[in-house]
Amino acid sequence: MAARKTTAPKPPPKECAPCKGTGEVSRTVRVGRKQRNVGQQAGICLACFGTGEATD
Ligand SMILES: [Zn+2]
Repeated sequence: MAARKTTAPKPPPKECAPCKGTGEVSRTVRVGRKQRNVGQQAGICLACFGTGEATD
């Protein structure tokens, strides 16, 4: 009987919470003295630096 190797599957990398694993977060763009909200812009997630993986 051949010994069956059971290779444990690698646990998937933890998803970064702020960007949900995308590496990007949408940030609100505000302009003017009244800080008017003019929309959103995608920016690199500073929690994972764009990797989408939680670092711990
Ligand atoms: Zn992130």
